[in-house]
Formats: sequence, structure tokens, C-alpha cells
Amino acid sequence: MSDAVPAQARVVVIGGGIAGCSVAYHLAVLGWRDVVLLERRELSCGTTWHAAGLVGQLRATHNLTRLAKYGGDLYERLEAETGQATGFRRPGSLSLARTAERMHELARLASMARCFDVEAHVITPAEAGRRWPLLRTDDLAGAVWLPRDGRTNPIDTTLALAKGARQGGVTILENTAVTAIRTRGGAVAGVGTSRGDIACEVVVNCAGMWARDVGAMAGVAVPLHASEHFYIVTEPMDGVTADLPVLRDPDGYIYVREEVGGLLMGGFEPVAKPWGMQGIPADFAFSLLHEDWDHFRVLMEQAIVRIPAIESAAVRSHVNGPESFTPDGRYHLGEAPECRNFFVAAGFNSIGIAAGAGAGKAVAEWIVGGEPPMDLWDVDIRRVAPFQANPSYLRARTVEMVGRLYAMHWPFQQAATARGVRRSVLHDRLAARGACFGEVMGWERANWYAAPGQEPVYRYSWGRQNWFARSAEEHRAVREDVGLFDQSSFAKLRLEGRDAGAALGRLCAGDVDVPVGRIVYTQMLNRHGGIECDLTVTRLGDDAYLVVTAAAAATHDTAWIRRNLGEARAVLTDVTAAIAVLGVMGPRSRDLLARLTGADLSAAGFSYLTSREVWLASAPVRASRVTYVGELGWELYVPAEFAAGVYDALVEAGQDLGLAHAGYHAMDSLRIEKAYRSWGHDIGPEDTPPQAGLGFAVRLDKAAPFIGREALLALRDRPLSRRLLVFTLEDPDPLLYHDEPIWRDGALVGRITSGAYGHTLGRAVGLGYVAHPDGVTDAFIASGRWELEVAGERLPARAQLAPPYDPKSIRVRG
Ligand SMILES: Cc1cc2nc3c(=O)[nH]c(=O)nc-3n(C[C@H](O)[C@H](O)[C@H](O)COP(=O)(O)OP(=O)(O)OC[C@H]3O[C@@H](n4cnc5c(N)ncnc54)[C@H](O)[C@@H]3O)c2cc1C
Repeated sequence: MSDAVPAQARVVVIGGGIAGCSVAYHLAVLGWRDVVLLERRELSCGTTWHAAGLVGQLRATHNLTRLAKYGGDLYERLEAETGQATGFRRPGSLSLARTAERMHELARLASMARCFDVEAHVITPAEAGRRWPLLRTDDLAGAVWLPRDGRTNPIDTTLALAKGARQGGVTILENTAVTAIRTRGGAVAGVGTSRGDIACEVVVNCAGMWARDVGAMAGVAVPLHASEHFYIVTEPMDGVTADLPVLRDPDGYIYVREEVGGLLMGGFEPVAKPWGMQGIPADFAFSLLHEDWDHFRVLMEQAIVRIPAIESAAVRSHVNGPESFTPDGRYHLGEAPECRNFFVAAGFNSIGIAAGAGAGKAVAEWIVGGEPPMDLWDVDIRRVAPFQANPSYLRARTVEMVGRLYAMHWPFQQAATARGVRRSVLHDRLAARGACFGEVMGWERANWYAAPGQEPVYRYSWGRQNWFARSAEEHRAVREDVGLFDQSSFAKLRLEGRDAGAALGRLCAGDVDVPVGRIVYTQMLNRHGGIECDLTVTRLGDDAYLVVTAAAAATHDTAWIRRNLGEARAVLTDVTAAIAVLGVMGPRSRDLLARLTGADLSAAGFSYLTSREVWLASAPVRASRVTYVGELGWELYVPAEFAAGVYDALVEAGQDLGLAHAGYHAMDSLRIEKAYRSWGHDIGPEDTPPQAGLGFAVRLDKAAPFIGREALLALRDRPLSRRLLVFTLEDPDPLLYHDEPIWRDGALVGRITSGAYGHTLGRAVGLGYVAHPDGVTDAFIASGRWELEVAGERLPARAQLAPPYDPKSIRVRG
């Protein structure tokens, strides 16, 4: 090996684990040859080499499943393509349920699998026993059988990807550590390595548990932390055959597969051991951590419950290897918002072998195509906030995240660790009122309010949870009287400067060239007409605008706007922390505010979608007449230091008006009855406004051409073959969450993108896209027999285009 590294390359991939080799392989497949992969030691030496090699297809969401499914497809053909064996095969997998609640979760997953074209069967304990003879089944509630799930040899699969990459022209250099990232004008310019510098256009950070440090070299936040992760391998056992399916017993925290006639048994214990707090040692290669039988006991005990024969099996090896985990249990993919052409594929939360193929393909296509090839929001690095790269925060969260893999995935489940890090200035006041908080981007947000004497904690279930009745009361208060929401977690961005209006004109599909004081609800589109951002723009002055978007979209939308500002002479400032937001919503909101301000609040004097500064109580407040709950109401933008005073005044003045504190669960119930869309769920980069029923917000004829306009024009005269519909279940009992299959006349035609219980309608409501090649027309909708599948059961539903609640928006405009 020569000492020199190439002076330049188009792409430098950092890390020779499965992720880096997959990115390099897929770049080669796409015809990019000027690619150098740098590995500080040897290929697969980090985490990859000791993985258990399970390749499951079914993931928590539609898009993650698309990527995982691709993994099996690629690994299946990789040996024939490259000549390097991978060890991949498809023995299928069994997932077991010990409780009725777990069985419900598995049945929902099996239903969801139908939407993703993944074969899944709900089976009895006895049937599970037939497929896995050593299994104890008398205490099981049931199981799900996935015949196409696979397993592979992680080292061989990585080497096959590397070989394929080399065959495609990629240069792979081992024993070459990246020590610096050079940037110029906010974009990647090159890397410094232990063997010299390489100038390059693109860097891909596939450095596994080192990825946070590599990100920091470019000022990029990559929130992940290593944790110890364990399995054992037994000597050969009677009854263990090579064709045994992979076994998952999540209630016992364990997975098991055959290994050379014995069993490989590992798991995800509820309380994990974060590792590498002082940094990952420089010489860590093909290394393992110390055995810890005490810590492993919880897994061993459960394995003996499930497979009694394992108790007397001799243990051949105990593997404790580190793997990286992220604050929300999802990996990080895509171009970092902080630095142009700096891509990330890391933080795989113990599914990197299964996900590595799809992740590498997605990143490679993103690099080559200059945009994400599909909706990758679930794993997009722009879903995180920079503060999340804080090691103390990550360490605290990692204790929990390992176990969360196999814990019940309850609806509305909140993290228990690393909480309370980002609070509204009203936090303590809301807590005193009984708020039960949930977390989004670190923000603590009141999701519901406990009754006096009730503990504000979640009791999770698949049915109505302990907050259901309380949230229903909050909902009713908003519909009938007035509700108070703390919406301070909204991301608030000011765009100012002589080109601010022109820039927003190009970014927004709606027309923001409006009089000062008008609010425009608009989308920002990609060049395909897909919805990148869904937000409001308020004109504050001739050259000043306030952009407000959801907390979860803060990093993403900020990055989208910044990237597309180009040369515009306009400054974008994040003023989120400076402004609290109080939502005063409901038919008596006008009466309430009138007690605190002399401003004209009449329908004519303060019309819908207008905004202005008013004196309210003792504070200067920007009042914006806009709503996400479908009622008369105002969002009050209050300088943070005045917020407590305004809140106190509202609470006091609202006492005899039926003012109720209301949380985000009530908001979700209210918004879904009105069919208001939620970005990241109902709308995203693969959905156009006409498909999403948001065509009314687009101004194709406005003076400024906008990004995505050409695509929308090209689609204008075609029938809408895919459209978002609103569904209401006929039975008032069952609940909808997301990903329930939609059936029309016995044919699968779509899936629910978000669901909630509509307390005014007295039934569950869901939004979901339906596809039909000749167009999803009124006649098509009216003539169909519609059903939604919940945990394997098809339930009659009503489908419509218009919101089921107040379709003419009379209440909003009142
Ligand atoms: C015990 C265990 C069992 C597992 N079982 C499974 C399983 O059954 N199925 C599954 O899907 N996943 C499993 N996983 C997870 C899987 O192993 C990981 O998600 C995956 O290997 C991560 O791959 P990676 O490429 O991101 O990271 P790594 O494999 O760690 O690769 C990163 C590479 O980057 C290199 N690097 C770091 N810094 C630099 C630098 N500055 N310059 C150059 N190179 C650098 C490192 O040397 C390393 O080789 C398991 C993990 C463990 C620990």
C-alpha cells in the first residue's frame, strides 16, 4: 500500500462498516467512480463485525419498511453479483406475544405489513411451537410469522458491498483515519487524514459510534451515543436446526437464532449501559467490551422461560459490543443542515445490518440526484435539534433507548429519560394546573390536564388511555366555550431585508405579497411539487415577515428556507425562544380577549387570517386570528418576559366563561375533525397540494414563479389518481392511530396517515391517501364500500373529501 492518499475525489465516505460500504456500493451502481472510502482500521472493524445479522423487514413506519425490505432484496442477489458470499438466507421470523396487549400490537403490525407488501400471518401459540420445537408456548397469547424475514453474515455482507463498490471503481483505503473536515462558504471542501489531505465535494459520515465526533469536525450535530449490547452463543443443542426461524420474544426482551447448531441469544434490556462517555478509544478495532453476566441476567432469565433447554446448554461465547443509539431510536440520514454536501448515515440503533442497504441506497441517490429520492422524514437528520448532540443528554436518553426497541410501542408513549430540558416560560404554571407533558424536539408540552386529585401520568394501553375523558372535556370546552393552549414550542422565524418578500414569493406556493397584517397559510414545495414545508407567513412590514411552523419541523424548515434563499438580501432569524404563544380558541375567545384589550375584535374589525399588535392586559402582544382547531380564536405572540402576566390575566378573566386549559391531544382531536393536515404525517415531500386537498392554498397565477410551480402546471389537467380522504368509523368504539389499511370494495387502496378520536363526532377519524388510476373522483368515493383494518379486523367506515366538522368553516370565520 502506498502512503499517499489521492489529492482529490468527488466523494469521500468516512467509515468502512456496513453503512459506509453500502453508500460506496450504491454510488458505484449509480456510476460515480470518483469515490474514496476511508476506514481508520479495517473494513467492518467497528460495530459491524459482531452483529447478530438479523434482517427483519417490518419497521415502525411505511418508509422505514421500504428501506428495510430493500435490504433483503439486495443481500439476496449480492453474492451472484459480486462473487463474494454473504451468508444471506430467509428462514423467516416469529414474533411472540405474551400478553393480549402485545398481541394487539403485533396484529396491528401484521395489518400494517399488508400496506407495505410484506407477507405477515397472525398465528396461534401452537403453530408457533410447530415452527420452533424448543419453544415454551403455553403462556403465549399468539405470534406473527413473517416468512420472508432473513439473516445474513455481517462481515461477509459488508465485504460483498465493498467488493461491488471496488468493481464499480470506488477506491477503498484502510488504515486511513479522517482527522479534519475542511469547509468553504458553508460547504464541504475536503478532509484531512492521517495520510494527507483530500480535496472533495461531498463527505459522507458513516463513522458509526464515532459519527458524533466526525460531525463535530464540521460543526454538524449528529446526536448518537454508544451503548453496550450483548448476546451469547451456545454449543450445539438437540432440536436446533439450521432452518429455524429467527425468534423475537419482545416481552422477554430477547431475540434468538440458530448459530452452528447452537443458539445465538441476545436482547434489549430495559435499563441499558451507555458506553464511551470519555470518547471511543482510538485503538478500538475488532474489539469487545467486558463480559457482564450480572447485567445479562435479565435476558438469560427470560430466555430460560421461553426456551427451557437453554438453561443446560453450554455457552461458547459471550459477546458485548458497542452500538450507537439515537434519542428517538431512529437512524440519521441525509444532508446536514449545518454544512452543504455533508451527508450522514449513522446511529443505527441495532438494525444497521438490516437497514444499511436501504440507507446506503437512499443516501447515494440523494447525493447523485441532489435531493432525497423519497420521503425520508422518519430518519432525516433535519428532524433533530442541535442541542441533542449534548453528550449528557444523550447518555441519559441512551439508558432507555436500547430497551425501547422491544418494549411495547404504545400510542402516545413518551420518553422517561432526559426530560425537562426545554421548557416554555409557562411550564411551572401549567404543571400546577395538572399538565401531563409530552416531548417534541426536547420541548415539554402539555398534552392533557389531570383532574384535581388525578396523577398527571400516562397509563398506556391500545384502548382509551387514562387521559381520554379529560381530553374529551378539553375538546368540548374549545368547541363550546374557550380553551387555552400553550403553543410556545412553535418555531418562529423572522425574515427581513429588501429581498425578503421576493424570496418568500419564490419559496411559497401561496401568495405572500399581501398587505401588512395578513397571514398566509402556505406550503413550500420541492421542484416536483411535493410539500416540503407547511406553515404560516405573516407580513409584519414592507420587508419583514414572520414564518411560523411546527416544533418538529423547526430544523428542517429553517434549513429549507436558508438553502433556498440563495443570494437574496434577507436575514433569517430564529426568534423562537423570545416569544411565547398562547392559543385562545373557541366561540367565547372573543368575549375573553375583549375583557383584556381595547382592540376591535369584531368579525369586521379583526377578520380571519389577519394579525396585529394589541395591548393585552399589561403587555404588547401580536394577536393573530388563525386556528388549528377549527374554531374562532387567536394565537397570541407574547414577548417571553410578558407571557406569565398575560397567562395570569387570561386565566382570571376566563373563569366565568368556561375557560379550560387544553393540551395537544385535544388539539389533535379537534384538528382531525376539521381534517387539518399534519406535515410529516398526512403531507410530505411526496404529496402535492392538489393530492393533499390543499390546492386552495396554491396561487399558480401569482406574479412570482415559485419552486414546484412547473410540476403542478404539468399535472394540472390530469385526473387526481391519488387523494387524501377523511374517514370516520361507523362503530364509535375502535381507535385509529396510523397505518391502518384502507379497503374499498374488498381491495386494498391505501393506508391511514394519521388518526385520532373525534370527540364532537363521537367516533375515530383518520386521514389517508387513496389511489385509483382513473382518478379518485366524487363518484368513486360515493360508490365504494369502505373499510379500515384495525388489528386484523375490517371495520365499516365513511369516506369523504370534505371535513366532517364545519365543512364550510363558518365557525372559523365567525
Ligand atoms: C451485539 C450486536 C448485535 C447486533 N445485531 C444486529 C442484527 O442482528 N441486525 C442488525 O441489523 N443490526 C445488528 N446490530 C447493529 C449493527 O451491527 C450496526 O447497526 C451496524 O453494524 C452499524 O454499522 P455502521 O457502518 O454504522 O458502523 P461501524 O460498523 O461501526 O462502522 C463505522 C466505521 O467507521 C470507522 N471510522 C470511525 N471514525 C473514523 C474516522 N475518523 N476515519 C475513518 N474511519 C472511521 C470505524 O473504524 C468503523 O469501522 C448489532 C449490534 C451489536 C453491537
